[in-house]
This record gives sequence, structure tokens and C-alpha cells, in this order.
Amino acid sequence: MLTGSGAPGAALLGVLGLLVGSFLNVVIHRLPKMMELRWAAECAEIQNTEESPVDSSAPEPFNLMVPRSRCPQCGHQIRWYENIPVFSYLALRGRCSQCAAPISARYPAVELTTAALFAWCGWHWGPGWEALAWCGFSAAVLALACIDWDTTLLPDDITLPLLWAGLCAAGLRVTDTPLPDALWGAVAGYLSLWLVYWAFKLITGKEGMGYGDFKLFAAFGAWFGWQALIPVILMASVIGAVIGIAIKLKGNLREGGYVPFGPFLALAGLTSMVFGPAAILSSIGL
Ligand SMILES: [Zn+2]
Repeated sequence: MLTGSGAPGAALLGVLGLLVGSFLNVVIHRLPKMMELRWAAECAEIQNTEESPVDSSAPEPFNLMVPRSRCPQCGHQIRWYENIPVFSYLALRGRCSQCAAPISARYPAVELTTAALFAWCGWHWGPGWEALAWCGFSAAVLALACIDWDTTLLPDDITLPLLWAGLCAAGLRVTDTPLPDALWGAVAGYLSLWLVYWAFKLITGKEGMGYGDFKLFAAFGAWFGWQALIPVILMASVIGAVIGIAIKLKGNLREGGYVPFGPFLALAGLTSMVFGPAAILSSIGL
């Protein structure tokens, strides 16, 4: 590991963040589709065992590695030099090199955000395991925010490892959250939203959030300790209410009128990492 503080670690992790951000774009795009394929396969299996065994042809593999990325418009296979984080987007002026279909600005935005978060971790904690642990936290939370925004899903494949990683990081003293605080944070995080969910459901008959939200909040409890849960949920609720109302006023609410809560929870978690839970409370006047 590098010695010295601040800048070298920040620069190094910033570059790593660009690469990880590029990978997160793949995760954000493909993980929900992989889950759908898995569900479809499971459904088919159940039906096949009930009916006749048919069609054992193996489907085309689809995971985070294969197939290679293609332009959704023309099918042009993305070459390695068209896949360099941020730079390729700028060089191509945000368009496919073959058919000039626009490339979503979210790709470079995710890469830049990951780089900024990683650089901040390197600068704040200096080179070492603690910075790397929080880089991992940032990457997972950013991916969850985008996936939930797109699909209203918070995959267990990310929330549960994030929860365990937080507990392990506390137990191994990689983060400075004491293990009892992390453990009770995880328990209280899950149970509190679970209770809110059922109370809301019994009173209104509607579902205000999903089980993924409980798991993400439990993960925050594990990373920050139980003391951070109230600041984080307050901030997520305020941001969620403001953006939810804005979306409703603009009238472009998606089908079912459902605004996912996960992205706001994620934003509050990342803010808590950067500024500390105490700063959130003081910023809203508590
Ligand atoms: Zn194209």
C-alpha cells in the first residue's frame, strides 16, 4: 500500500472508481435481466415437473461477462476502445459509432460518480483497508440506487452481501463502527422498516415499500451503527417526499403510481458516509 496521506490514494482510487463504475453500468443493466431469466427458468421448471418434460435445449448464456455489449439500436458490438470510461463517451460525442443512436448520459454519469466517491474515500481515510471497504460500500449502494430506480427491485444479490460485509468490516475493525453497534444496527434497521411496512399496509391496504428496502436499511445499520438509522431514514424520507411530489406534479408518474424508496435511502446512505450521520441531523435543524 502507498504511504502518505490524501492525494495519492485519492487519485489512485479515483481511477479505480472509473473502471468499477464501468462495471457497475453492466451490473445495473444486466442483473435485473438475469433475475428475470432465473425466475422464468424456475417457473418453467415447476410447470415441466407438473406437465411433460419438454425442451431441454440450453438457453444462450447471459451473465455479467457474456455476451459482449452491443448497441441496442443496431447490434454493433462495442469494441474495447469504445468502452473506456467517460473518454469513449466524449470521443464518440455520446453516439454509437455505427448508427449514431444516442448513448445514455447515465453511463458516464455512473462512472464519474463512482470515481468521485472512490476518490473521496481515498482522500478521507488514506490508503488502506478502511478506504477500500467504503469504496465497496459506495459501489454497491450506487448500483442498488440505479437498479431500484429502473426496476423497483433491490436485488438480494447485492443487499445481503452488503449487510454481511458491514458486519464483517465492523468485526474485523476495518470500519470504526463497534461490532455491537453494527449488529444492533442491522437488526433495528430491518425490524423498524418491517414494522412501518406492516403498519402502513394494515392501515391503508397499500405497500409503501418492499423487503429490499428493509435489507438495505439493515445494511446501513451494519455499516454505520444503529445511531445513524434515524438520521438516514429522516433524510431519505425528506428527499423521497420532495422528489415524489415533484414527479407527481410533473405528471410523469410511472405505471401503478409507484416511486421506489431505495434510491432515496441510497442517497441518504452515501450522504451519511461523506458527511457523517450527525451532520444530516444538524442540516435539517435537529
Ligand atoms: Zn448502433
